[in-house]
Parts: sequence; C-alpha cells; structure tokens
Amino acid sequence: MADRYLSFTGTAPGRFLTRRLGLPRPAALTRHTPGGPGLDGGLLHLTAGTSALDLAPVLARTGLGTDEDGRPAAVVLDATGVRDVDGLAEVHAALHPVVRSVTTSGRIVVLGTPPDPDDHHRAAAQQALEGLTRSLGKETGQGRTVNLVRLAGTAAAAESTLRFLLSPKSAYVSGQVIDIGAAPHTTPGDTAAGPGDRPLTGRTALVTGAARGIGEAVAETLARDGARVVVLDVPQAGQDAARVAERLGGTALTLDITAAHAGRRILEALPDGLDILVHNAGITRDRRLANMPADRWAPVLDVNLASVLRTTDTLLDAGALRPGGRIVATSSIAGIAGNAGQTNYGAAKAGIIGLVRSLAPRALAAHGVTVNAVAPGFIETKMTAAVPLLIREAGRRMNSLAQGGLPADVAETTAWLAHPGSGAVNGQVVRVCGQSLLGA
Ligand code: NAD
Repeated sequence: MADRYLSFTGTAPGRFLTRRLGLPRPAALTRHTPGGPGLDGGLLHLTAGTSALDLAPVLARTGLGTDEDGRPAAVVLDATGVRDVDGLAEVHAALHPVVRSVTTSGRIVVLGTPPDPDDHHRAAAQQALEGLTRSLGKETGQGRTVNLVRLAGTAAAAESTLRFLLSPKSAYVSGQVIDIGAAPHTTPGDTAAGPGDRPLTGRTALVTGAARGIGEAVAETLARDGARVVVLDVPQAGQDAARVAERLGGTALTLDITAAHAGRRILEALPDGLDILVHNAGITRDRRLANMPADRWAPVLDVNLASVLRTTDTLLDAGALRPGGRIVATSSIAGIAGNAGQTNYGAAKAGIIGLVRSLAPRALAAHGVTVNAVAPGFIETKMTAAVPLLIREAGRRMNSLAQGGLPADVAETTAWLAHPGSGAVNGQVVRVCGQSLLGA
C-alpha cells in the first residue's frame, strides 16, 4: 500500500501545507542499493572524556571519508570515557555545534559503556547517554538516525555494528541501545567469512515464512550477501515459496512450522546443518482478551512462540547449527509496548524476547551460536495493508521518522546480526521501528 502522504509531502504544495499546519514531515529515506552510494558525506569522530578506545582504525574501515566541508553524514561520539556529570557537559559541548549540520538521512552514533555496578556516578553518566540518544532521535528529523552502542570490550568487536549503523542499511533503525559483548567477536566459523560484499558466502540460511513479506526480503538480502537460502513456508504458500527460492538460487521447504515433526523435517532437508536460522513466520488473530476464544489465542502462541522454542531446541540439540551460527527471531513492538486487541500476539512476541535473553549466553558458550531478535514496528507489508486506514495512518506516523519501514529494513538488520563479524552482538533485541513512540 503506497504511502501517498509521504509522496505528497515531497512536493512543493505538500511542503508548504505541512509546514503551515504543523503536520509530520517525513523525509524520503536513503536506502542501500547494491553498488549504490553510501552515506552522502564524510565522518566526524568526536570524543568526550578520556577514551581508551582504539576507534580510528575501525572507523577508517567503514569507507566513509573524513568530513571536510562541515556537513558530516555521520557523527561518531566516543563517550566511553564519560564518568560523571561534568563528562556529560563534554558530550553536550561536542554535539551542540554539529547536530544541525548533519546531512539529510545522516547518522549519529554515541558510544558508551554498560552500566557499572561498582560506580554509581559512572553508571548515572552512562545511563544519561541513553536518555540523550533517545531524545535527540526524537528531535533530529530529516531522516537522520541516532543510536547508542555500549561496548564491554574492544572497538574491533563493534566493527560490524558500526558499519551497519553508519550506512544506508540502517535507515529505519533509530533510538536504539545496542550492547556489544566482551566475548570474542570471531568464532571458528568466522574464518570462513566471504569477501566484503558477500560476507555470507559458504553459509546456509533457513528463513521461516519466507514466501512473502518480511521473510522474502530477509531471504533475498541473505542471498545477496552470499548465503544459500532455504525458503520455508506453509504448503498453501508453496508456489510463492518455490518462486522466491528459484529467484534466489535457493531451495523451498513447504512445511507448517507448528507441525510436531517440523524440526525433524528441517534436519532431513539440511543433513549437513546450517549457519543462520531466521524465525520470521508469524500470524495475528486480533481481538480484545474479553472477546478472544481459545481458538484465536492458541494458533498465535503456537506459530509466533511455541514453534520457535521447539525448532530452536531441536536444531541446537542435534548440533545442526554450526559454530559461528546465528539465530535471529522476530519479536515486535507489540511485544514491548503492548497493543489493544493483541494480547495473544503481544504475549508471543514478548515471549521471544524472554527466549533470546535467556538462551543467548548459553547458546554462545555451548555452540558458538548467537541469538538475537529483531522487533519491527510498522512495516509496509500485506499484514499491515489489511489494517483499517486510520489505524494504519497512525501506525505510519507515530515514530521519529514519521513513516512506515520497508521489509528491506528488517532484512538489512537481520543480515547485520547474521554477519560473521557480529559474534559479540548477542542477546540483543533491536527495534526496526523508526523510533516508534510506543514503548521504550
Ligand atoms: P506476512 O503475513 O506477510 O508473512 C508471514 C509469512 O509467514 C507468510 O508467508 C505465511 O504463510 C508464513 N507463515 C505463517 N504461519 C506459518 C507456519 N505455521 N509455518 C510456516 N510459515 C508460516 O507477515 P509479515 O508482515 O511479513 O511479518 C513477518 C514477521 O514479522 C512476523 O513474525 C510478524 O509478526 C513480524 N512483524 C511484522 C510487522 C509488520 O509491520 N509487518 C511488525 C512487527 C512484527
């Protein structure tokens, strides 16, 4: 469903009217195209406090030149050395003169550290960065994004994350806090990483619900990055699954993921194992709890949560996920903020967050596999096209970027989490929501 308001506000009368009436003014976002330009300008590296981080070589590898004309496309503020309220004044002093000059669809990334349990002054100052980041995301406008990356280890562990956040691939990710662990960011599987633009070469990815919508985009993006994809969807969607698989040079697997034998069927289809497992299949059966019979509750919990738990257990227990493997599950902002009419869906999607946070450290320790979640906000798909007009319009506008995201935005986020260099990104729930006003 085309976003006509976004097109209208790009015209001269549209700009005039929205300014006069104080209506949301979404900017057309710059997104990644293969071989296309990156961000439109150079990078400005700022520091507040005294930092021990060796960031320059990592930033140099992002491919962004140094900002020379005072209009940076990317600002990275290293605030890992901020230990107190005085240090926060340095954060203000660093950002205040530059925020206005950041180009349209530019990026601001603040680097901090995880909360310090032994130093409440430092913990307060570091937590303050979260409030600053989220607030700046809400005021910056013009398609710019603002995110906070908290580093427990070296700058190198954050490289894949910085490359993602400082590129057009993260167009719809804003207002997020991403923790990078101290664990090694390479695992034995990483040595098989492919070349720069095909980092997933030699890897096999299974994407559930990939016959259409977000799952199709995920399969497409992982294939673009070099992975061999298996497109899983229900038998009724078999033709679409086959079409997607053929286009991507992959294979289709028609299977209801809730079937008791689903895990076994996957193991049979992938006797050599797999590297990337994307739990994307999902359904909604909305109704307020007081009006919701059990037959609307059960399937939503089964598809969105129980089958994810079952399939994950079966594949991990069988050792089917190779070291360096990645599991990416799909939550939703409804699982974070809640949504009237979606107690079943909200419960299931919140359950995904519980699964990810609990399993992530154990899966990494036992299998060398990371476990993360994407939590989409309003994404333009058949699922959201079916939403009544007024609610749809509210969903689109109620975020800092004042527009819906595209399936490709969720797909690029998944591809970053699946990247061989993202081994230190574990147990994270990353919202792809344009900084939705709902939830934190
Ligand atoms: P969609 O309805 O367009 O696609 C979902 C796919 O999953 C379909 O191809 C469907 O056949 C498949 N599927 C459903 N049940 C299945 C089962 N039992 N076994 C195998 N496949 C099954 O949905 P979408 O909008 O692309 O959403 C994809 C995921 O993202 C879902 O988990 C959804 O909850 C989540 N999500 C979407 C949005 C959004 O705005 N579109 C927002 C938040 C979260």
